[in-house]
Amino acid sequence: MIHVTKTYLPPLEEYTEYLQGIWARTWITNYGPLVLELEQKLKNYLGVKHVFLVSNGTIALQIAIKALELEGEIITTPFSYVATTSSIVWEGCKPIFADIQRDTLCLDPQLIEQLITPRTSAVLATHVYGNPCDVEAIEIIAQKHQLKIVYDAAHAFGVQYKGQSVLNFGDVSTLSFHATKLFHTGEGGAIITNDDQLAHKIGYMANFGHNGPERYWGLGINGKNSELHAAMGLCVLPKVTDLIRRREEISKQYDQLLHGLGLVKPMVAKHVVYNYAYYPIIFPNEEVMLAVIAALNAEQIFPRRYFYPSLNELNYIDKQSSIIAEDISSRVMCLPLYYDLSVDSVLQIASIIKNVVIQ
Ligand SMILES: *Cc1c(COP(=O)(O)O)cnc(C)c1O
Repeated sequence: MIHVTKTYLPPLEEYTEYLQGIWARTWITNYGPLVLELEQKLKNYLGVKHVFLVSNGTIALQIAIKALELEGEIITTPFSYVATTSSIVWEGCKPIFADIQRDTLCLDPQLIEQLITPRTSAVLATHVYGNPCDVEAIEIIAQKHQLKIVYDAAHAFGVQYKGQSVLNFGDVSTLSFHATKLFHTGEGGAIITNDDQLAHKIGYMANFGHNGPERYWGLGINGKNSELHAAMGLCVLPKVTDLIRRREEISKQYDQLLHGLGLVKPMVAKHVVYNYAYYPIIFPNEEVMLAVIAALNAEQIFPRRYFYPSLNELNYIDKQSSIIAEDISSRVMCLPLYYDLSVDSVLQIASIIKNVVIQ
């Protein structure tokens, strides 16, 4: 069976070596040495000032919203994973959807201003499939209207824009280290900011608000991650450059094999060093895509409709329409892409797609 992704697991000996240290210290959680080491290594690898390792990418979004004291309306994208929208609602705010750009599939900055009201507090946008949003245009609008910016950068691990990490844009960026992501800790995530004051707040908020054992800085929640997860991250991090290189090779094979079939790939913006986190393709219509999925499934190959449905269609959202996001989400999917996907499998997948599409 071939799934859309496969978790990279390090050699077991490398993980057990970390476990031996954990056993010797009998220190499992609460900011143990491995959590601190991983945070430091991530700062260096990503080139950012503050990194807080948390238990998942969803709590990262929730803490970001809380730390920035967002309230009222948040202008956001309908084309993302459900956690982007659910976190806004969970934190008591109202998502207001701005439609996406047809080429990049990221939130269209030109649609933001017309949605701003006196209740708007922020823009929360996703770097879709790791492709950076138009961060400069969003910055200009946010400054003009005094809005905060949060980027859901769950897909953007290692992505560079104009020579620096894309995580350096906006007030806060969040990452997911879920097992299906490019870099993972099993379950996990991180909150990134360059603002020292905000960093202090995020730090205590993720740890129940603690200021030492008996005092509290303020409101907090449990966003901590454990030594067991950090150990996984420390094993995976040294391999991540190779994992990205393998994905690039496979993506280029797909590019060649699928060329000329009338399938569209989202555009990666200029000045971007991409991480090949996903291989999305947009079909001419939903019917062809469903036929392709059925043909692949028949061979035990499971691509994923990602993202589907468009988030403005969730049943806990007041009716809002996003024409482009609804259209694209009905006919986009991600092909299998992972470090050890074989050339034979790539050939097989491409030939199945070709047979259906050229009929
Ligand atoms: C995976 C993902 C999340 C959620 O991350 P978890 O670690 O699974 O909680 C949020 N947003 C996007 C865009 C994602 O892909």
